[in-house]
Amino acid sequence: MEFNKIKKMELPRVILAGHGALDKIGEVLNDLQIKGKILIVTGPKTVEVAGNTVQKILRKDYKVEIFLTGDATIENVEAVKKRALKKKFNLIIGVGGGTKIDIAKKAAYDLSLPFISIPTSASHDGVASPRATIKDGENNVSSEARVPISIIADTSIIVKAPYRYLISGAADIIANYSAVKDWELAYKLKGEDFSSSAYAISKYTAEEMINYAPSLKPNDEESVWVVIKAIISSGMAMSLAGSSRPASGSEHLFTHAVEAIAPGRALHGEIAGVGTIIMSFLQGQDWKKVREALKIMGAPTKAKEIGLSNEEAIKALTMAHKIRDRYTILGENGISPEAAEKALKATEVI
Ligand SMILES: [Zn+2]
Repeated sequence: MEFNKIKKMELPRVILAGHGALDKIGEVLNDLQIKGKILIVTGPKTVEVAGNTVQKILRKDYKVEIFLTGDATIENVEAVKKRALKKKFNLIIGVGGGTKIDIAKKAAYDLSLPFISIPTSASHDGVASPRATIKDGENNVSSEARVPISIIADTSIIVKAPYRYLISGAADIIANYSAVKDWELAYKLKGEDFSSSAYAISKYTAEEMINYAPSLKPNDEESVWVVIKAIISSGMAMSLAGSSRPASGSEHLFTHAVEAIAPGRALHGEIAGVGTIIMSFLQGQDWKKVREALKIMGAPTKAKEIGLSNEEAIKALTMAHKIRDRYTILGENGISPEAAEKALKATEVI
């Protein structure tokens, strides 16, 4: 058979993580040989936390403008694009938690501009991933986005974000545990593209996070360091795979179903953590180990802790397979309401 495989990988070039990383942003831009005008996309709160600092440092050598934005909606992405085009910006920097970075990376992707990610919290694995979740009307749509050319994660800034966010980020990493299992299944049963290196990295980050769970604590830069490092590695795994497969399987189908049924009741990573308990159980993996780790971190392990009634949890689980065309342990037809209830009770989620 003729060899005709071809694959494109886009990876970040400079990653700077740790105490006081933001102070070195000038050096990073210098390393990357950035020239011209820079647009900082941030929110009303995160501009105070880090956006203004970024502008202050870069103002000496660049023309810098701050663009304040809100939720990750198509309208807000379009507004950033309009501004960036009008004033011919050469680089977009996203400063914030999830939404501001999603807006910045989607706008940069559409405009073919380079993008730098500066997370101010570590609540999910989007800060380093090549995907963005953008709201289109009622629906959350995960779309292809720009891989950051650089990630600057300052632990002294992220440590000031609410501890609940960090726990949510850690739970989103633990979700890789069931995601890689689903990926393996799709590879074996459906011949899906597979990357053993991305698989290994993703699996390792989940297990490292499970093992580190008892040591996580609030107001501790070391804890932030461990979580952000795992988030960056997980993003790299997605870049290597060229898809979100290494970090998003059935537990994320469940998460998106919950976000559709009961929007805004819990953080993304918190729901993904609960989903990981359920899916690990269905996959025949060590779901108790997952639940223990989440519990000891203080992450939700029960439906009611993510704001769901028993009926809503069953509904989310039975509709999860319809969320997107992604083969997982839930199969093509999903799980019956009876089996869903059984699994939720067995794992003590309800
Ligand atoms: Zn996630």
